[in-house]
Amino acid sequence: MTKTIFSSLHREALLEEAQSEHFDLVIIGGGITGAGIALDAVSRGLKTLLVEKKDFAWGTSSRSTKLIHGGLRYLKQLEVKLVREVGSERAIVHKNARHIVIPEKMLLPIVEGGELGKTMSSLGLWVYDYLAGVKKKERRRMLNKAATLKREPMLRQDILKGGGIYYEYRTDDARLTIENLKSANERGAKCINYAEATSFEYTNDKISGLKIRDTINNTTYSINANKIVNATGPWVDDLRKMDSAKPSNKRLHLTKGIHVVVPHKKLPIKQAVYFDVEGDKRMIFAIPREGVTYMGTTDTNYKQQTDSPQTMKDDAQYVLDAVNQMFPSAHLSIDDITSSWAGLRPLIHEEGKSPSELSRKDEIFYSSSGLISIAGGKLTGYRKMAERVVDKVIKELKKSHDKRYDNLKACTTAQIRLSGGNFDSKRALKTFVSKRSGEVKQIGLGKKSVVKLAYKYGTNLDIIVDKAYELYANVSDADLRLHLAELWYGIHYEMCNNLCDYLIRRTGRLYFERDKLQKIYPLLADEMAKELGWTELQKTEAISEFEQEYEAVVAFKNNKISV
Ligand SMILES: Cc1cc2nc3c(=O)[nH]c(=O)nc-3n(C[C@H](O)[C@H](O)[C@H](O)COP(=O)(O)OP(=O)(O)OC[C@H]3O[C@@H](n4cnc5c(N)ncnc54)[C@H](O)[C@@H]3O)c2cc1C
Repeated sequence: MTKTIFSSLHREALLEEAQSEHFDLVIIGGGITGAGIALDAVSRGLKTLLVEKKDFAWGTSSRSTKLIHGGLRYLKQLEVKLVREVGSERAIVHKNARHIVIPEKMLLPIVEGGELGKTMSSLGLWVYDYLAGVKKKERRRMLNKAATLKREPMLRQDILKGGGIYYEYRTDDARLTIENLKSANERGAKCINYAEATSFEYTNDKISGLKIRDTINNTTYSINANKIVNATGPWVDDLRKMDSAKPSNKRLHLTKGIHVVVPHKKLPIKQAVYFDVEGDKRMIFAIPREGVTYMGTTDTNYKQQTDSPQTMKDDAQYVLDAVNQMFPSAHLSIDDITSSWAGLRPLIHEEGKSPSELSRKDEIFYSSSGLISIAGGKLTGYRKMAERVVDKVIKELKKSHDKRYDNLKACTTAQIRLSGGNFDSKRALKTFVSKRSGEVKQIGLGKKSVVKLAYKYGTNLDIIVDKAYELYANVSDADLRLHLAELWYGIHYEMCNNLCDYLIRRTGRLYFERDKLQKIYPLLADEMAKELGWTELQKTEAISEFEQEYEAVVAFKNNKISV
């Protein structure tokens, strides 16, 4: 049986090995923040371990708006430094992962009674491009009413004054996380999912290790570490409380944001649209993608269970009302929703501020025990956040006067192509995609599905196509053949341990293709059972876990309006 290092079949061996090693750095949390830190740390020469209590990207990093964006609205709050940093980070993340960070034209309609008029919108977008150092041909373009309607005929006409077109990037947040982890792993970092940090160990009041529990096999391991970073997003305060040192007064402020999905034909917009909600003036995105349109988001205080934020009916209705106001002919209703997700923003609390007023900037907290915690921030700025954290870690490590830390490399992640993203230009990616789609057509695989896979896995697509032939040549349905090979890749190269890992975080299918899953998930369960050597009971449990998630994304449809 194949055992690549980042295979779920190798997970237990990794845990065993980790127990007998001494790490320079252990990162707790396998979201985008932890993944970025792992890649940065290992590429500078630190012996690195990352542990994640559930699946990689299981937290907020699979539940965002899935945009690599500068955050136009932060300009309104005069967060110039933040806009400049995340704005210029967009281009770096795109360059290093062209297969999953894709330029997306965004339309900003200008309406009567909107927050900004034509001149201020034009100026705002100009400043936005300027701060981010956007290339000339991608700079904002202002449109009159007729040109705006030509681009987007469904927009509400009576109040429309014009529009602005500007560039952002769309991504798959969970895949961006996994590509970072795979890249960290290729350089020698150990990254393990279903490994929960349960307590810290101390030497002279300083953290010198931790206990982790393998939540699949219920086994506990002791790990030695010189430095530990708490990158647990919404759980950062839980980990700080687990530390015996008294936490500082700073604390997180969690806010919930939801997205709903409808078939594209129900809201057939031609490009992503970003607009003000009439009334509270919050901003909403409507984004077409893979046969659906998804819309969001909300921003409400959240004080319930951190592990299980849910979309509620009133959240969904708020988003639909906002969208129906801007696209009156859509008449979207709760019944049109095919899927949804809800995530928590791990923001830093500021006294007296409402959710939308809270800054999105990141902050590092230090504890007298040596624990370093990182919170706040955005998916877009993960690389720069990681650089700041690793700089601090190295500064601390150098205090030990261990000569090993004297010659560590400076941060190089701006130059590291992520796994699957080894393309020097847009043209190189396009050539790869068209070459592969031509080749696979000749061997009977569907061109469309291959193109779709290329924009998920980049150059790693080749492994999947090879496996489709090596292992599944006898499967007559070409799409199923590719599906099984993709699952195989997920198990052996991306540490998929169950159906949810694969159908939610590796492929996003529960969100974007839920209607197609009924037929396929029992077949996938059989295949996983074979590959992972599951008992019948394990298979039944995996199926039931997935079925719960399958129902949960639309469960709010039966809720009462308020909670
Ligand atoms: C609705 C919404 C929309 C957003 N949209 C965007 C956007 O479009 N663009 C953008 O740039 N940003 C966006 N953001 C922000 C962005 O998604 C977050 O800043 C980012 O995903 C946070 O990542 P993280 O790694 O810090 O946290 P997480 O992704 O939550 O990762 C933390 C991980 O720590 C793990 N963990 C917790 N406790 C333990 C433990 N004891 N042991 C081991 N592991 C543990 C958790 O399981 C979790 O996986 C959005 C956020 C929300 C909520």
